[in-house]
Parts: sequence; C-alpha cells; structure tokens
Amino acid sequence: MTAVAIGALLYEGKAKRVHATDQPDLVAVEYKDDATAFNALKKAQLTGKGALNCRISALLFEHLERCGIPTHYLGVRDSLWMMVRPVRVIPVEVVVRNIAAGSLCRQLPIAAGSRLQPALIDLYYKDDALGDPLLSEARLERLQLVSPEQLASIRALALQVNAVLGELFAGVGLELVDFKIELGFTTTGDLVVADEISPDSCRLWDRAISDSQERILDKDRFRQDLGGVVEAYGEVLKRVQGVCPEPRVYG
Ligand code: UDP
Repeated sequence: MTAVAIGALLYEGKAKRVHATDQPDLVAVEYKDDATAFNALKKAQLTGKGALNCRISALLFEHLERCGIPTHYLGVRDSLWMMVRPVRVIPVEVVVRNIAAGSLCRQLPIAAGSRLQPALIDLYYKDDALGDPLLSEARLERLQLVSPEQLASIRALALQVNAVLGELFAGVGLELVDFKIELGFTTTGDLVVADEISPDSCRLWDRAISDSQERILDKDRFRQDLGGVVEAYGEVLKRVQGVCPEPRVYG
C-alpha cells in the first residue's frame, strides 16, 4: 500500500488537530498532549496523554465496529495519528450518565454516586464561547440542528454505545460512570460516532476501589488536581487492550 500523505491543517481543537490527506475521503486526526478543563481555564501538557488517548480510542472504536456500531474510525498510523472518514459533526455533545457525577450534581439535587436507571441522556450545544449550554428539546428544535427523526437516531445510537461500552468496561473491572460522544454524518449521509472516546471524555472508576478519589481513572484526576493522570489513563489502556481487537494500521 502506498503511504497516505498528510496535508493541510483543517481544524485545531483543544486536544486534537485534524488534517486533510491526499485521499478525498480520508482525514487524519493527531492526538495532542494538551490537557484542558473548565472550558480551557485550566491547561497543562501531559506527556504521553496523546498517545494513550489515541490508542484507547482506537481500541474502543474497534470494539464498537465489531459490535455493529458505525463510527468514523478507519485505523491508526504511528502512535498519535488516527485515520478517519470525514464527517459533518453535529454541534451537539451527547452525554450519557449511568451514575450521577460532575455537572449533574452541581446543577440538580441528585447525590453524587447515585445510580441512574435508565441512563440519563443530556444534550449540550457545542460552543466554547457560550460554555456548551444544556439544550432542551425545544431549543434543539429552534436551532434546527437535527430533525426529530435524526434526534431519535442519535439517542438510540448513544444508548447502544452505552450498553456496549458499559459491558466491555465492566468485564475489566471498570465502571462507566458517564461519557460524552459526538456524532456526525458521513459524505454518504450515514450517522456515525465521531471524535474520540477516551478517559478525557468518559468517567471511569475502578470497581475494586471504594475510595471516592483513588478509584478515579479519568480526566477528573486532572480537574481535581489528584495527580497520576497519565498513570490512570495507562491503567485504562492496560485493561481494554486485552478485550478489544488490535487497532488496524491504516495508511
Ligand atoms: N465531557 C466531555 N467534554 C465536555 C464536557 C463533558 O468530554 O466538554 C464529558 C466528561 O468528561 C464526563 C461527561 O462528559 O465524562 C459528563 O460531564 P459533565 O456534564 O458532568 O461535566 P463536567 O463535570 O466535566 O463539567
């Protein structure tokens, strides 16, 4: 196979850069070591985070694909690059919550750690300048970002991802507390899971540890200044790499 040439920078986000390639239906995502929280008010460089998130995301996308869940993922190249299909990302952050944590407990009288059954889906308008506000169905309709049918598909896909990943993580002793995904439409109009799925975008607790800080294996370690962020992400990688297909090398 001839090597794919990576081209111009198309977009730079807080944790990733998206580049064009010399192939029309292929873009390359570079995972950065930059860590941000609280809408980028808190920033740091965490050496090794980019490579860990790239590999963890690749493993989880491999697993989702194996389970029949469509994603933008095509494979990896070297340790920091993920090759993906270009998608028109819907500017809505889809958060699925199994256990109450984070903003939910700050905004509502729900005790941290309460199990949410059925899982709660929260939709946020993806706009840093506006602070990613929580959407109501009426607001979503007003913004005309998705049709009611597309919204139903988005919810169904998010719950499928929750079921598949919740089971995967439980099998390796991790509790999937909550996570955020972004969805988009491919050039052929298919709805797929895009962006990344990693400890930057999921809350994961070690099920064998009861201490409420020690059990945290996700970005809350950074948000709460608990230290050991990269080590925690390494632990997540160690557990999932045994149970997901080896990421395919692409380009
Ligand atoms: N999340 C994310 N990006 C965001 C906001 C949230 O990846 O811009 C993830 C976050 O890591 C957690 C879940 O979505 O796994 C729910 O986050 P929450 O609404 O509780 O917000 P937070 O407590 O992070 O402010």
